[in-house]
Amino acid sequence: MVSEHFDVVIVGGGLSGIGAGYHLQQRCPGKSYAILEAREAIGGTWDLFRYPGIRSDSDMYTLGYSFRPWEEAKAIADGPSILEYVRKTASDNGIDRHIRFRHKVKHASWSSEDARWTVEVERGPSGETVELTCSFLFLCSGYYNYDAGYTPEFPGRERFAGRIVHPQKWTDDVDYAGKRVVVIGSGATAITLVPAMTEKAAHVTMLQRSPSYVLSLPGQDVIANTLRAYLPSGLAYGITRWKNVALGTLIFQLSRRAPELIRKLIRAGVKAQLPEGYDVDKHFKPAYKPWDQRMCLVPDGDLFRAIRHGKASVVTDHIETFTEKGIRLRSGEELEADIIVTATGLELKVMGGVDFAVDGAPVDVPKVFGYKGMMLEGVPNLAMALGYTNASWTLKCDLTCEYMCRLLNYMDAHGHDRVMPTLNDPTLEAVPFIDFSSGYIQRSIHKFPKQGSRSPWKLYQNYALDILTLRYGALEDGSLQFSRAPAPGTALAEERAAS
Ligand SMILES: Cc1cc2nc3c(=O)[nH]c(=O)nc-3n(C[C@H](O)[C@H](O)[C@H](O)COP(=O)(O)OP(=O)(O)OC[C@H]3O[C@@H](n4cnc5c(N)ncnc54)[C@H](O)[C@@H]3O)c2cc1C
Repeated sequence: MVSEHFDVVIVGGGLSGIGAGYHLQQRCPGKSYAILEAREAIGGTWDLFRYPGIRSDSDMYTLGYSFRPWEEAKAIADGPSILEYVRKTASDNGIDRHIRFRHKVKHASWSSEDARWTVEVERGPSGETVELTCSFLFLCSGYYNYDAGYTPEFPGRERFAGRIVHPQKWTDDVDYAGKRVVVIGSGATAITLVPAMTEKAAHVTMLQRSPSYVLSLPGQDVIANTLRAYLPSGLAYGITRWKNVALGTLIFQLSRRAPELIRKLIRAGVKAQLPEGYDVDKHFKPAYKPWDQRMCLVPDGDLFRAIRHGKASVVTDHIETFTEKGIRLRSGEELEADIIVTATGLELKVMGGVDFAVDGAPVDVPKVFGYKGMMLEGVPNLAMALGYTNASWTLKCDLTCEYMCRLLNYMDAHGHDRVMPTLNDPTLEAVPFIDFSSGYIQRSIHKFPKQGSRSPWKLYQNYALDILTLRYGALEDGSLQFSRAPAPGTALAEERAAS
């Protein structure tokens, strides 16, 4: 039972999906579109996560959209402000009228004959199945499992008498006032939670197996706020955005080319904020090089302040077992706790968990090459919004949306209704889609498409380069195959149907 057809179906109503709606409206005004969102709310990540202190770990001048200035004073913003920004973008531009909530896309099958996708959706509380069709499918479904986060098997977990919470499942009834808290983890979430929880908790211990790089930045960007006072908001935003892109690129490139220098600078920054005699190397000297994993940012050194004031401490050790009272460590030490927070990460999910088929054949995503990090070899009329690992997510997603709109307009102008990346380079070598050593990436990298060793099958994680290729580069590059399905009833259509 096919009910409706859209030119474009966007899967996901988070930061990327709302951005995609905006770009489509602006650049392809004639196109009909729907945003299918599995949950009941706009905002994705920024609506899902409710743990204390939830905030961005990159600045909002680059995490914000290219088309909508971030006008708040804070550069590293809290979750509710980001959610409000996404919601306002949707309502101010009428994008919210295109969203179908509680529409979880389960399956999408492409028919070359009809040049369209049939999208199977689980709808509403009953989970009834409905079908939609679209000419182009755009996945803005993020990169992780919404149903559950990642939690390793902890021996003795059932023995612990207190409460165990995963940050992804945080609810308002988690009462930690006056309690002893152990936060397990050393990533962005743990580093956010620890200082935030010290405001009410008796004491918060961050228990990590190994340290991460922690960089303290001012919570407010003085240059941004000064520029905004004197210049039109859009201009001030644009200048700040480029300043931060340049700074971020510089830190990333220096980390790759002169890792020892960056390591020393970060260590000096950390040492300066901790009490005399603090064992900086034990707790804040990672075994890997800077930017081999995502770097953790703390606004105004809040984590270090909490440690200085004795409200928080860091323990670097391995868990032997949970006990009735807390956690026993390999060193023999026991950490007593009333609440244990398992900030142990996300479980990655590729392409919204949707099963794809092209002309009846299932698409085996890990077996195919990604094209420009946004399309798949052999899969027509499909793109996905995946952000940078070494810079703000939205920088890449804005460019991906621009590119998709260029493609759609080009196809209309040239009478094509199909576009498909086609591998024509037998010497192309496969490399992992993301070259990060983080545990959550390594656990799931086998689910991702392959990355090629050369352009356009390579993902450069470089904003300036992506501007050149995605905004200005030729669409006809020898790897994208454009075509048109023969009109029904024509000799060519009958010949193709018979073959
Ligand atoms: C706690 C946290 C903090 C972060 N901080 C930063 C940061 O500071 N800077 C940065 O660059 N990145 C950050 N990230 C990464 C972050 O996820 C992105 O920046 C951005 O929010 C992703 O937006 P998105 O819309 O692409 O995906 P999401 O926010 O994940 O939204 C995806 C949406 O798609 C929906 N969806 C998924 N599958 C389906 C389906 N099959 N059918 C229908 N709907 C579906 C989901 O319900 C969700 O609403 C953070 C991530 C987390 C978890």
